[in-house]
Amino acid sequence: MPFGAYIFHKFKKSMKAIFFEKPGGIEQLKFGIQPTPKPQLGEALVRVRACGLNRLDIWLREDLENARSIPMPHIPGSDVVGIIEDINGKSALTFGQEVVLNPAIPCGICPRCRESAPCELVKIFGVKNQGGYAEFITAPINQLYPKPKNISFTEAAAFPLTFLTAWHMLVGRADLKEKETVFIWGASGGLGSAAIQVAKYLGAYIIAAVKSDNLANKIKMLGADETINYTKDDVVEKVKSLTNGLGADVVFESVGAKTWNSTLAMLKPFGRVVIAGTTSGDMGNQDLSDIYVRQLSILGARMGTKQEFEKVLELVTEGKLKPVVDNAFPLEQASQAQKRMIESKHIGKIVLEI
Ligand SMILES: [Zn+2]
Repeated sequence: MPFGAYIFHKFKKSMKAIFFEKPGGIEQLKFGIQPTPKPQLGEALVRVRACGLNRLDIWLREDLENARSIPMPHIPGSDVVGIIEDINGKSALTFGQEVVLNPAIPCGICPRCRESAPCELVKIFGVKNQGGYAEFITAPINQLYPKPKNISFTEAAAFPLTFLTAWHMLVGRADLKEKETVFIWGASGGLGSAAIQVAKYLGAYIIAAVKSDNLANKIKMLGADETINYTKDDVVEKVKSLTNGLGADVVFESVGAKTWNSTLAMLKPFGRVVIAGTTSGDMGNQDLSDIYVRQLSILGARMGTKQEFEKVLELVTEGKLKPVVDNAFPLEQASQAQKRMIESKHIGKIVLEI
């Protein structure tokens, strides 16, 4: 791309974007013109080349995250890669550089956000600010990193939030060790497919839940040692039989209400469950004696730290973790892309190309 093209975009006052003006169904997603954002001090202007979808995008539109106040009209999109167009402040990054965004923005106050686990004040890019379903974003300079050269823009938009979350869950919180058994719910989704790769990298024995036999081979190709079809098999019995009656050391949870009882039942004594989402509902029922009799640990997780993002980026750059792209759609087809995510037929990440 000639340098002149950057200059042209830099002074464009408006840009194409997908946005919604009020919460609601998929029909609320509009493709139209929005003002090009201006970088404040400490921010860069990035021309977006690809933006990965997350369930968060859908929850925001449906107003399920209504405790948060989000700017309207709202442009969703947390997983952004693109090209630096302008920088307002000091940075080692340069104009024209290809960058990937760390979507977890630390609170900037507490040591926990920097060192161990993000605090409650950590922000996800694209929630309280405008996200990446657009030609341009502005982002804090220190959230931007050089894009790995070995992968495309589309692939690079398929790893940040899911791999960061999966890494924080399995490494930062559950401390999954080599040769331990991990059971992964939601294995075909963006987060689950990332978890399989992280668990494989750690050398764990991986059992993954799948909803059809057709998916089993694909999930094994991602790194699962065994799969269980949860629509027809007794998952707890199957996990026990695959582990000589012992059960799993760690269960990776993001499904919630529907799976919670099976999750605790399949853990071995002193087992750990790590949970970072409740896609099937928040309210679970649990015989609490299960927890103390078998001395189980319940670990919550949310996004990850700056160091964890840098570790994940390093492993993606080295080719040790590989983003899995299900399908790419042009920006104007964001509705179709969200529909595909809602139908849950995808394996890996759905990405918008801009
Ligand atoms: Zn904090």
